Amino acid sequence: MTQKLYLDQTYDTVFEAAVASSRPLEDGASEVVLDRTLFYPESGGQLPDGGTLGDAVVANVQERDDAVVHTVQGTLRAGQRIAGAIDWGRRFDHMQQHTGQHVLSRAFIQAAGLHTVSFHMGEETCTIDLEGTGFDEDAVRKAEDVANHVIEENRPVDITTMPLAELDRLDLRRKVPEGVSEARIVAVRDFDLIPCCGTHVRNTGELGLVKVLKGEKVKGLQRVHFKVGLRALDDYREKHAIVQALANRLTTGPAEVLTRIERIMDDAQAGARRAKFLTERLAGAEMARLLDGAARAGGVRVLLHRDADPAYVRALATVLQGEAKVVAILGADDGAVLCVASRDLAIDLASGAADIARELGGSGGGKGGFVQLKLPDDSRLQELMQRMEAHVRTRLS
Ligand SMILES: [Zn+2]
Repeated sequence: MTQKLYLDQTYDTVFEAAVASSRPLEDGASEVVLDRTLFYPESGGQLPDGGTLGDAVVANVQERDDAVVHTVQGTLRAGQRIAGAIDWGRRFDHMQQHTGQHVLSRAFIQAAGLHTVSFHMGEETCTIDLEGTGFDEDAVRKAEDVANHVIEENRPVDITTMPLAELDRLDLRRKVPEGVSEARIVAVRDFDLIPCCGTHVRNTGELGLVKVLKGEKVKGLQRVHFKVGLRALDDYREKHAIVQALANRLTTGPAEVLTRIERIMDDAQAGARRAKFLTERLAGAEMARLLDGAARAGGVRVLLHRDADPAYVRALATVLQGEAKVVAILGADDGAVLCVASRDLAIDLASGAADIARELGGSGGGKGGFVQLKLPDDSRLQELMQRMEAHVRTRLS
């Protein structure tokens, strides 16, 4: 059994211990158990601590049968005395997230009668899953207000270990797990009481800020993503920079950004519709002129045409399908080649077309009278169009 220093010495960062056992793993790592440790093992939704044991970096910490198991890079010797140091930045972040979660969970009960059924701490964001109905923007705002008010009040966070018999009179937010004779109770004074073995701050003022990021439905529960303390500050910084950059780009104020972007998106959609309409009209108008110059093969006009714009080439292909007795080989500057027969021709242009494209370094395929080929660029476009023309002529003969 490891003596768990982290339960009482939450603010300590260095300690000395003896190596109780060390088991080598693959890749030069090993699993180390100490007689005592400051390293918090992953549990109760909270991530494990990081840091070092001697020169060895601690990559993971888990609890197995009352022993705290440290996975370290390197090997240690059983019986050896060792100096341990935890990564304080990481630890304090976890303390902020976890205590912040206690406060937010109680705040959701007060604000909207929503009870927390689980908590997960991620490297980026944390989540709680809420049970009950009535989760909405208003509930979030109220819960945030309650939580941040408790932070302003700088309430003490008291941790006491109590025998089970004394717990009956307490209004615990969650039941004590079965099979224990005493429980570690974390109290945000006159606000929240819960049995918990996590690491916590001493006063709610150290949380700084609690911010809900978003809610989503997961398996009938309401999942709430949130950040506390420095994570919340980083999030604010990052999002403020994005909004400010957008505002500068749009030469407007942050409050106007959304309206402006919606207008730009509407304009873009209208522009795209107009471009499609005009492209189709132009293709229709130009068709007669193009067909005048087309060669004939067995009563069918064979049209070869190259254009800069792939969208215009596609519009031409659509118009051509409605003409009578035409096959067109249409190339675009992006290396695309469309080979299209009018709908009144029962002709197979697709068989063998992919092979021709492949021989010239391209790809593609098709079905019946519609073939789409693509070259990486336009350097061999003319060649592909000519090869396809020969292909079409053999089909027509
Ligand atoms: Zn907890």
